[in-house]
Amino acid sequence: MDNICTNEGKSCTPNSAISCTVTNCAHHCKDVNYCGLNAIEVGTHEANPTEDQCTDCRSYRKYH
Ligand code: SF4
Repeated sequence: MDNICTNEGKSCTPNSAISCTVTNCAHHCKDVNYCGLNAIEVGTHEANPTEDQCTDCRSYRKYH
């Protein structure tokens, strides 16, 4: 895997510990399906989460 990928025209180092397919996130390394952050925060929008759909990446930022 390449160490340097692009993300909004800037270099992005894929974090192999954080696999992600949300390509419209500003932190996504577009060339590979990994996040470029060192760490992310995961949370939930539900009072009592029961499925994976109940969880959210709170580090998501809109890609523009
Ligand atoms: S911040 Fe979250 S949604 Fe965005 S690329 Fe990283 S893991 Fe994916």
